[in-house]
Amino acid sequence: MFSMKNWQQGKAWTNWSNNVVSYPNTFYAPTCIEEVQQIVQQANEQQTIRVTGAAHSFSPVAMPESAALTLHHLRGLISIDKQQHSATFYAGTYLHEIGPILAEYDLALTNMGDIQTQTLAGVIATGTHGTGITLGSFSSMVTKWGFVNGLGDYIEHERKDDELSDALHVSVGLLGILVTVTIKVIPLYSLHYTSTRSYFSEELSRFQQTIREHRHVEWFYFPGSDLIQVKKMDIVAPQEQNKWQQKVDELKLQLLENGAFYVASEVCKWQPRASLAVSKLSSKLVSEGERIGLSYMIYPSPRSVKFNEIEYAIPLVNFEACMEEVHHTLKRQQFNVHFPIECRTTTGEKGFLSPTQGQESAFIAFHMYKGMDETAYFEWVRTMMGKYGGRPHWGKINDYHASNIRSYYPQFEQFAKVRQKQDPHNIFLTSYFRHIFQ
Ligand SMILES: Cc1cc2nc3c(=O)[nH]c(=O)nc-3n(C[C@H](O)[C@H](O)[C@H](O)COP(=O)(O)OP(=O)(O)OC[C@H]3O[C@@H](n4cnc5c(N)ncnc54)[C@H](O)[C@@H]3O)c2cc1C
Repeated sequence: MFSMKNWQQGKAWTNWSNNVVSYPNTFYAPTCIEEVQQIVQQANEQQTIRVTGAAHSFSPVAMPESAALTLHHLRGLISIDKQQHSATFYAGTYLHEIGPILAEYDLALTNMGDIQTQTLAGVIATGTHGTGITLGSFSSMVTKWGFVNGLGDYIEHERKDDELSDALHVSVGLLGILVTVTIKVIPLYSLHYTSTRSYFSEELSRFQQTIREHRHVEWFYFPGSDLIQVKKMDIVAPQEQNKWQQKVDELKLQLLENGAFYVASEVCKWQPRASLAVSKLSSKLVSEGERIGLSYMIYPSPRSVKFNEIEYAIPLVNFEACMEEVHHTLKRQQFNVHFPIECRTTTGEKGFLSPTQGQESAFIAFHMYKGMDETAYFEWVRTMMGKYGGRPHWGKINDYHASNIRSYYPQFEQFAKVRQKQDPHNIFLTSYFRHIFQ
């Protein structure tokens, strides 16, 4: 996981779950745009440069080889336009810094995912998403990108109907180093959050209706159990959560979703055959309840039990058939897995490399506790998601490769053409990406 101290000491680079490790020999931490330009201009063809956000990707997308660069010193608000509902930030800003800054101007992000430890550039680069069938990913919030390309030029590009916008939409750091970003924001709001325990078959039969009745709907499906957790969130007028209630909720989350779940996960690691029983028990212990608070306080949850993850966007119309098959297989305890499967939805997007391009999508995320063997489970997920037209999330474990990338992304050649123009010397093309572009 990213730590400025480790960076300064030139220690090994690792991501959040430690499944990707590397040993770069140069660590850059520029403090201004001109310095970013100089670093890129001085790079030679033997040296690749990779920007690390918060290192929260499970795939090697952020893995540096020779040179690693962080925008840890390029954070914060640059300007705000209350009339146009837009805000410009340095791209290294952490998500947890954004909510309170925007709230000072009575503004907020349109949506967020599960956590808020990532950087703005990192979530935009990979198409990180929350849930909500009318809402897009972080990439869709961007109205202007400011980036240093592979020639060291600083370019500000306003979103329009052109190839560069479609390529920048989800660009996994391949077109350059994103240094500033302008995003659409909306008036400050609170969320009314509810969590309920419910039967899988009942929820499945009304899924398409539920996701259109609420702004955000998220499922946690417990492998092999007939019970699921359904989380719903809807906008209400801005109001702070009662401080005392907030503390109680935080404690409950820490104890149940992290403390007790950590113990259960250790039991499964020690006795993998116990996974089904633990999964069923967890589904019965789902904490039901509701709360209201400012959106940036309600979206994220603490995630201290470490795991590895693979996630696919499938066409929304395939969701029911896909989940029926998931349930059918996992009920028969095909795999030793107790970690819940997370189901979310988003609207379709246009980017050349966007997993949701052209269609409303359901994201289905499969997790395995760190230290337990995920090989067979994830292999089964890949085959099944292929069957239902799935495209992998760039920031999660994926099988992207030159042999399959064009079948996932029909406009891949257009992306490759833009990439070649912005990075003719392949400064940003680390080996993970060379396997995709060769
Ligand atoms: C516990 C956990 C929960 C998560 N929850 C969600 C979720 O709810 N929804 C979801 O969709 N994903 C989720 N993710 C995945 C995560 O949001 C993405 O992998 C995201 O890209 C991580 O952001 P980061 O800042 O850590 O970027 P990194 O992982 O460090 O980098 C991601 C990519 O962005 C590039 N990049 C970073 N900075 C720049 C820059 N300045 N210019 C150009 N390229 C850059 C990197 O080179 C890399 O290719 C989760 C991950 C974890 C570990």
